[in-house]
Amino acid sequence: MAEYDVIVVGAGIAGLGVAGLLQRKGLKTLVLEKSETPGGRAKTSVIPGGWRKDSGLHCVDNGEKSAYADLLRKVGREIAWTIPLEGMMVFGEEKWLPAADYFNLSEKENEDLVTLIASFATMSEEEIDRLDKVSMAEFTKEKVASPKIVELLNILGMLQSTLSKPEIISMGEFISTFLEQIMKSGGSPDKSNVRVPFGGIGTITGIQAAAAAEAGVKFEYGTPVKKVIAGKSGMIKVITEKAEYAAPRVVMALPIWDMVKLFSDDDKALPKGWLKYMRSLVDETSAVIGFTVGASKPLFTEPVYLAVWSIPGVGLPLQIFIQTNFDKTVAPPGHMIAYIGACCTPEQVRDDRYFQDVTGKFWETLQKMFPGLEESLVWKNVERWVGVDGLGRSPGLTGKYRPPVFMKEVPGLYFAGDCYTGRGIGMNSAANSAMLCAEKILSDMGK
Ligand SMILES: Cc1cc2nc3c(=O)[nH]c(=O)nc-3n(C[C@H](O)[C@H](O)[C@H](O)COP(=O)(O)OP(=O)(O)OC[C@H]3O[C@@H](n4cnc5c(N)ncnc54)[C@H](O)[C@@H]3O)c2cc1C
Repeated sequence: MAEYDVIVVGAGIAGLGVAGLLQRKGLKTLVLEKSETPGGRAKTSVIPGGWRKDSGLHCVDNGEKSAYADLLRKVGREIAWTIPLEGMMVFGEEKWLPAADYFNLSEKENEDLVTLIASFATMSEEEIDRLDKVSMAEFTKEKVASPKIVELLNILGMLQSTLSKPEIISMGEFISTFLEQIMKSGGSPDKSNVRVPFGGIGTITGIQAAAAAEAGVKFEYGTPVKKVIAGKSGMIKVITEKAEYAAPRVVMALPIWDMVKLFSDDDKALPKGWLKYMRSLVDETSAVIGFTVGASKPLFTEPVYLAVWSIPGVGLPLQIFIQTNFDKTVAPPGHMIAYIGACCTPEQVRDDRYFQDVTGKFWETLQKMFPGLEESLVWKNVERWVGVDGLGRSPGLTGKYRPPVFMKEVPGLYFAGDCYTGRGIGMNSAANSAMLCAEKILSDMGK
């Protein structure tokens, strides 16, 4: 008899979510996590001197109305959110301008934009599904005449997906996420619900882990899984350095690039071609080069998102979020934390020469964007990330084209996280996927 009803591999947002939901329904659940702490890509670390630094920018689209907040409520928890983001500013003509002034749309362009947004709102699910295979570049070439509106859509698509080119952003996913944002902000595209949890993103992942442990989930941290064997016996084997487990249900709650390493080509239970296909998706993800900085004074005080479609001298799109403008508790009094990221491709991040060149030029440009930055700098982390938002929000990889949360050929094998079925930006996609995965497991069990 199995010791556990379910084994979850990975204690990120998705793994913590599935485990917490299933244990609350009475399933004995074990989580195996390679790191010593929960949270996966969404963690907060303490820097001596009173700083709390997130693992990269981590703001939650739709805040307390997000899928992530829903997941938290399902395990009986609420958190305190900061004030919402108040729009976007764009760097143009040597200074930051409110988006409306930067784009300065004519009356006709404003009308066209309103008509375009209205056309999104009346789209059927089938139409959005169809657009999941169409890129933002293809869509705007056909439907948008104004280059300014094209640039606006490109910037919004980049902020949503962390992808650096409109050719690789799925229009279906863009529209679906955009409509959810409008719906959840009471019908107004100007009012945002983007928020961060007080104290950093680790606050939520910590609460998720505590809620799961309290419900009875058993956690083994510092325990990398080495191999998973689907087999044909109805039990799935999970092998770590210290132990071998078998369970009737295993949830792979880890991104595709980590997940594929755990299966073998010899595993005859896996459908033919599946592992090869999954391996082909490993680099279909978003990547960022940038900085996180701590400064002795606030260099920009408005609670807005800062963006640029093409950083002067660098050519990559930029997103900046100054967390202390929303949450003063993450820095010593009067100080500032800013997350500054240029979206690029995994190949660009891995290319050391490109990386050195870009970070040098990028830092120079930042001095112009934020005069006084160098002098007030307390610390600076140079960041390079591959795999920011899981499986890229690219044509043919979103909506119903995402890898599913279950494998019909291997009953008992499930998947959860921001690489599998689940709409939304990063953490919301991980949360949606976790809820779908838990529902599927319970329905397969007739619960
Ligand atoms: C720099 C950066 C900025 C981001 N900014 C945002 C943002 O602003 N908004 C947003 O919504 N999202 C953002 N994201 C994305 C967000 O962090 C992810 O979408 C989300 O955390 C994914 O959760 P997950 O559970 O799917 O995967 P993960 O967090 O990757 O969890 C997987 C877990 O599996 C574990 N694991 C891996 N291999 C093994 C193994 N062999 N054995 C055991 N355990 C294993 C890992 O240690 C990890 O804990 C950002 C991500 C990054 C990196």
